Amino acid sequence: MSGRTLTRACPEYGPERTCVGCRGRAAKSELLRIVAVEGECVPDHRGTLPGRGAYLHPAVVCLDQAVRRKAFPRAFRVQGSLDTAALRRHVEQTVVADSAAP
Ligand SMILES: [Zn+2]
Repeated sequence: MSGRTLTRACPEYGPERTCVGCRGRAAKSELLRIVAVEGECVPDHRGTLPGRGAYLHPAVVCLDQAVRRKAFPRAFRVQGSLDTAALRRHVEQTVVADSAAP
């Protein structure tokens, strides 16, 4: 359940979610679930963390858009800003790993 390519999304399969960055719709499995933990955006790899989740393409461009439009505080209904440094690191690693894999 990992290492799938992102290029061929099949919206017919499984539930769809909207990316908080580009506002594009994609299959839930193509998006990264993110939850807020103590003022920090945390990637929820297994989809098991409790609380309100936001969905994002694992792409830096989408993360940038989400941060710019303050999509995370809005999605999580929190005041102020959230720390996205760890999330950004994760997304960057995901992008590198994905493009390196066959
Ligand atoms: Zn997106």
